[in-house]
Amino acid sequence: AGISVKEFADRMGVKVQDVIMRLMSMGVMTTITEPVDPDAALLVAEQMGIAVEIQQEEPEDAILGETEDSEEDLVPRPPVVTIMGHTDHGKTSLLDAIRKSKVAEGEAGGITQHIGAYTVSINGRDITFLDTPGHEAFTAMRARGAKATDVVVLVVAADDGVMPQTLEAINHAKAADVPIVVALNKIDKPEANPDRVKQALAEHGLSPEEWGGSTIYCPVSAKKRTGLDHLLEMILLQADVLDLKANPNRRARGLVIESRLDRGRGIVASVLVQKGTLRVGNFLVLGAQVGRVRSLNDAYGHKVNEVTPSHSAEVVGLDGMPQPGDVFVAVEDEKLGRQVAMARQARHRAAQLLQTKKVTLEDLYSQIEEGVIKDLNLILKVDVQGSIEPIRQAIAKLENSKVRVRFIHEGVGGIRETDVLLAQASNAVIFGFNVRPEPKALALAEREKVEMKFYSVIYDAVEDVRKAMEGMLSPII
Ligand code: GDP
Repeated sequence: AGISVKEFADRMGVKVQDVIMRLMSMGVMTTITEPVDPDAALLVAEQMGIAVEIQQEEPEDAILGETEDSEEDLVPRPPVVTIMGHTDHGKTSLLDAIRKSKVAEGEAGGITQHIGAYTVSINGRDITFLDTPGHEAFTAMRARGAKATDVVVLVVAADDGVMPQTLEAINHAKAADVPIVVALNKIDKPEANPDRVKQALAEHGLSPEEWGGSTIYCPVSAKKRTGLDHLLEMILLQADVLDLKANPNRRARGLVIESRLDRGRGIVASVLVQKGTLRVGNFLVLGAQVGRVRSLNDAYGHKVNEVTPSHSAEVVGLDGMPQPGDVFVAVEDEKLGRQVAMARQARHRAAQLLQTKKVTLEDLYSQIEEGVIKDLNLILKVDVQGSIEPIRQAIAKLENSKVRVRFIHEGVGGIRETDVLLAQASNAVIFGFNVRPEPKALALAEREKVEMKFYSVIYDAVEDVRKAMEGMLSPII
């Protein structure tokens, strides 16, 4: 371990009490004799305007000798799709319908395991669906820095139309910069009215191709299993625009999408391979866990020997439980695995400290001045729909040449966990007008240092933003 807090303060020529106070304000509880955390030390020094040099541990890529893939090593890979939409609009039904209709004949009656993702083929091309629908899982992954999804399929029931979670899904997908293909579901119902839905979605930026826009709409019935092939073809069309590629000939790398404890098999993790090829016998680092792949199973219950990019499998043979969103990487041996795991633990500690650097209104000005941010991202939750527009307009008026105001999401109702996740993933501040956070949302916001501001009159919010932009908002301690 490195030097103590006392030694650190001495070398910087500052009072040890000052250092301890600053560490505490970052959430690091310490005493003068304890070894100082290098990352925290760096931040403290930076705050105090003192240049220090800290011997950094070797980052993961250096340990592994990782290099960028060259263009000629890249080959096309299938798209990875997440299904989103309002409750009861048919997300689960659509996932099931696609899975069942595309499973080859004789696949044990089409019954498949739920392993977090599955792959289907159409016209000889593959598409992988993540099995946990909804924007919650999607944004939770993103808040952890993981990007698993290439295309979002937005399910909207044609007999119901655009609902609050439809709008949430749109905003979560937009914030992640992931293209949307719309599935107009329940088209079998007599009361289905696709044009009305298109009209409503067009108002939210999803103008249909046939109206001169760029969004693909696919009428489907998950119940009758109609329109599914067309939907899959359109997903591939959308994917073609993205020109998705990966190098299969390198050590496997990807994401943990699920993990669980299986009675017979111990810890089981579902992984999505993003680069390289994962093989039985590989040593893996998943998050900070090390393990060796004893077996790989696909969503159809088959044992497989290898998994290529954009495909998923269940990994058996782990000692510890990785978390969804954890990055995994294949390594040559266990020793290397332990080194990588250690580097990750160190980086994780650093990341925890850096969370204190999330945007807040108080430090908006300095972050703009330093060129750290150019946008003030806001999430707006209100008690009545009618107040959204006036608030948006009043705040948007404050934009100047240095800072742009972006409303990542607005909605009616209390502040929920997904709002906080979105704020975390998009570095946004949450404004609540006459609404309160749900307890889970509050706890998450506190833990992740996401700022929430509460108002009852527009004027107060406008004043706060104006002062923040001018650097006149005094920090609340
Ligand atoms: P989720 O909450 O979005 O996952 O929605 P579900 O897949 O659970 O579907 C909600 C309800 O709508 C269920 O009762 C389904 O049977 C029904 N449903 C789903 N798709 C269709 C469809 O294409 N046509 C009709 N008529 N009903 C559907």
